Amino acid sequence: MKRNENCWCGSGKKYKKCHMDFDAKLDEFKIDLNKNQIRPLHHLINIEKDIEGIKKAAVINTGALNLMAELIKPGVDTLTLNDAAHEFIVSHGAHPSCLDYSGFPKSICTSINNVVCHGIPSKKDKLHEGDIINIDITTDLDGYFADASRMYIVGGKTTLEAKKLVDVTREIMEVGIKAAKPWHFVGDIGAACGQLARANGYSVVTDLGGHGVGKKFHLDPFVSHDCPANTGMLLVPGMVLTVEPMINAGRKQVETDAYDGWTVTTKDGSLSAQWEKTILITETGNEVLAS
Ligand SMILES: [Zn+2]
Repeated sequence: MKRNENCWCGSGKKYKKCHMDFDAKLDEFKIDLNKNQIRPLHHLINIEKDIEGIKKAAVINTGALNLMAELIKPGVDTLTLNDAAHEFIVSHGAHPSCLDYSGFPKSICTSINNVVCHGIPSKKDKLHEGDIINIDITTDLDGYFADASRMYIVGGKTTLEAKKLVDVTREIMEVGIKAAKPWHFVGDIGAACGQLARANGYSVVTDLGGHGVGKKFHLDPFVSHDCPANTGMLLVPGMVLTVEPMINAGRKQVETDAYDGWTVTTKDGSLSAQWEKTILITETGNEVLAS
């Protein structure tokens, strides 16, 4: 790209006044192929107008997750939660991204106790006092996606074991987010998460992970939550990704329901928890866009 051409990012600015220095830094950044290090491609870089779009989607997504907190109580079924979240998102002019995604039949994921992720809302799944449930919602608005999930304790009280798993999993997400820095590697997130999980006697699901998000629901890089530091894709300002550790009280192995093709459970039946935020890599660290 020539100095006086319009920048590839779509800002409308001349290249020399926009991403020229950034590209030079990116090209010169030393990559170690033995550590599977790679540079991000340009389409993963978001500019100001993209960030604004993601934030608008995030406001609605956050509203839907807040609404779940009001509705979750013993006796409520997960289809009721789904329908309320769907109605909330649609009434704000947005779209629940999970609906029809690769054939997923509902608008949100509801994952109870030993369900790791991708639980399908159903009239048959009634919540019981002491259950722990993850609600995962993604909202898209005007082509921008915001993705977050939270844990909820049904009835407010559960066992000490379940409470600790929920609380520690949140800390694991937070240390992962702290490790997400510009001009460092995505593997740093997994290294931080894995270390804290093991220190608490938990295991980390590695069959599934986080992902780039923003202009699409799922983009590179894959975000592992248990891997060596200094590996994988280089993180640079403008990248948007999810940090969403899935933490099991027992072993890490999971299985997918052969009948519905979606519901992922722990193989040993142990409890699993997950928290998720969408973050933006900035010049100095990162900023949470959706939580
Ligand atoms: Zn640019």
